[in-house]
Amino acid sequence: MAELQDRIAFITGGASGMGRASALAMAGEGATVVIGDLDEGQAKAVAAEIETAGGTALALQVDVTDDAAIQRCYDVIGERYGRLDIVYANAGTPGATGNNVTREQYDISVAVNLTGAYFAAQQAIPLLQASANVGSIIFTSSTAGLVGSHLSPLYSASKGGVVMLGKSLALALAPKIRVNVICPGPIDTPMLPKFWSRETTEGLDDRMNAWLAKDIPLGRRGRPEEIAQAALFLASDRASFITGVALPVDGGFVAK
Ligand code: NAD
Repeated sequence: MAELQDRIAFITGGASGMGRASALAMAGEGATVVIGDLDEGQAKAVAAEIETAGGTALALQVDVTDDAAIQRCYDVIGERYGRLDIVYANAGTPGATGNNVTREQYDISVAVNLTGAYFAAQQAIPLLQASANVGSIIFTSSTAGLVGSHLSPLYSASKGGVVMLGKSLALALAPKIRVNVICPGPIDTPMLPKFWSRETTEGLDDRMNAWLAKDIPLGRRGRPEEIAQAALFLASDRASFITGVALPVDGGFVAK
């Protein structure tokens, strides 16, 4: 039997990058996947991709900075399925980089990366509790949530908060719901170059590749599918004794 057969999963930021790859992977293992994203057109395209491959998916427009919009998603899920088994709070923004961010830029980064993750999880709890299965909440933090980031102190601060959010919720929600955090290193998605093009896009690939060669033991950027494998594992019963973990998936970056 597929390992997520009969499970209902909600993935924020599921329209692109690692959220999309995770949606495809979970649907491939039998989950019904609800894709929540700011970009409704892309979310629908991913849902259509899943349906074409024989899976079941639903696309919902959501801005995770808007509690009412998050609640509308959970209302739809409640009406359709009556429960939820997996929440992957993955939506994020690189936000402003550098050391001269404005208050407005600060507020946006924290609103998406930390506050959005918090409420996507908190508002899901009644539906997770309504399921007979042990629930799984997964957050996407970053290696920048584990070690400081010279590119963006603001991003690091918001993602560091996500690590502690995951650990604390793991304690608060055990044993009914497991909560874990994925900390990706540099992953080949549309977001990656945004960290490196702060002042100029000139020589972007060369600058990124020089950094990868120097700082990533495995010497390359990761693929979104490699994050999806970690999400799939943490969502599944194979991870039944794992909660409160912040898992780097980073080619060895934070091992140093
Ligand atoms: P991506 O740009 O491919 O995907 C991000 C998705 O989030 C997009 O579909 C976007 O529309 C959606 N989104 C953004 N703001 C939103 C909001 N307010 N509400 C709902 N959806 C929103 O990027 P990705 O690299 O797949 O990023 C996924 C997660 O991984 C993010 O949390 C990011 O911070 C984190 N991350 C990325 C990297 C990397 O190198 N790419 C490394 C570490 C962590």
